[in-house]
Amino acid sequence: MFLIDLFFPKFCLGCGYIGVYVCSSCFKKLELIKQDTCFYCKKPSLFGLTHPNCSKTHNIDGLLTIYHYNPLLKKIIKNIKYRLAVQVWQEFYKIIEPQVILKLGFYKRLSQDFVIQPIPLSKIKYNERGFNQASLISTFFQKFLHYSIGDLLIRKKEISAQAQIKNKKGRYFNVQGAFAIKPDRRGLIYQTPNIIVIDDVVTSGSTVKEAARVLKKAGIKKVYVLALAKG
Ligand SMILES: [Zn+2]
Ligand SMILES: [Zn+2]
Repeated sequence: MFLIDLFFPKFCLGCGYIGVYVCSSCFKKLELIKQDTCFYCKKPSLFGLTHPNCSKTHNIDGLLTIYHYNPLLKKIIKNIKYRLAVQVWQEFYKIIEPQVILKLGFYKRLSQDFVIQPIPLSKIKYNERGFNQASLISTFFQKFLHYSIGDLLIRKKEISAQAQIKNKKGRYFNVQGAFAIKPDRRGLIYQTPNIIVIDDVVTSGSTVKEAARVLKKAGIKKVYVLALAKG
């Protein structure tokens, strides 16, 4: 037993069972996404690649998600607090299923020079929470993908849930200006042809869409999105 276990006993973030962060019976209740879909039309697509005619802008070239954002996963993610965050993702790494590794292997076949870009948090949100979930999930995925983690984006403002904003104009201004390329990283863009943007959960997709738009505008050739869960 480690000292840390004495002070903070491990318990299942789903059901409270002592000894692990996700117990085997909760783990069985996580639902893997079997059929990936196109980001734009939501229809089935192999490895979540965007269909050629589905987007004029084509800012997102593909979307891979691992689990359905079911009530259990929601609870697990919500219960991850600062002191647990790193350990939880280390444990998740050990119990990842072979199907997921197979799915991630798609990126390896696609290109050898991807850079992983976690969706950044704003400074205020980061200080409030103490960690960026997307960064931790990135290091988790990195164990399988072996690409380097980039730090090209900054978050200038938070995005409210798009569903709460009634009109189209309001929704546009909600996401507009949320991200920018870090001024000191602009030079790196030319050495970074392809990016995998990583977030914990993709629901409406407005956050990753805006991040992808900014990256493409800066000159990135391909932008794929990888998320732990799809809402
Ligand atoms: Zn449990
Ligand atoms: Zn499509």
